[in-house]
Amino acid sequence: MSTPFPHTVVDESVSAAERYYTLLRIVRLGPHTVRVRVHREVELEPCFAAAEVLSCDMTWTPLVMHHPECWFDRTATPFKHVNVKTELEPLADDLMRRVTAILVKSITLPEHVLDVVGALLAVAYGSTGEHVITPDDVRWAKASGGPFRAIDRPDGSVLFTKAHRHDCPLLTSECEIPCDGRCQAVQAGAGDPAMT
Ligand SMILES: [Zn+2]
Repeated sequence: MSTPFPHTVVDESVSAAERYYTLLRIVRLGPHTVRVRVHREVELEPCFAAAEVLSCDMTWTPLVMHHPECWFDRTATPFKHVNVKTELEPLADDLMRRVTAILVKSITLPEHVLDVVGALLAVAYGSTGEHVITPDDVRWAKASGGPFRAIDRPDGSVLFTKAHRHDCPLLTSECEIPCDGRCQAVQAGAGDPAMT
């Protein structure tokens, strides 16, 4: 399966006893850390197969699960020398495929940034706005105008700007030094869709 994220197994362990066996896998998937656990007991009820993602506050958030009713009969009854990988790896792989499909659909940004970018989109395109940014748009924007900056301001507002050159005091100073008025030259590059 192709994925824009590198997918690295950072830890995997299996264990087996007379009445249970279990597989634990930790995977790094781009910016995400995912834990997959598959646990088989003699009885159906305590069995589980689940994938969780590590959230910012270092807790595991459930993402997908595979109900034991669907796989209990396809896996061996526990015994001490069961081949745990053979029994449980297909279930773990299936969970990882589902996790990948879910996580690669959205670019993960810190919540504050999501809120502010969401507000920018809503202001520009309306409260139910939608807009596709193509790789060409990104190339054009990087090559035109000033550098993009998002500046947190003391009053809680955020300034999004491409109106200032790299060495404008507004961008370079730690404190609130305003633009020195020499930034007009970098504004409104050729072919600016907003200007036509
Ligand atoms: Zn400036």
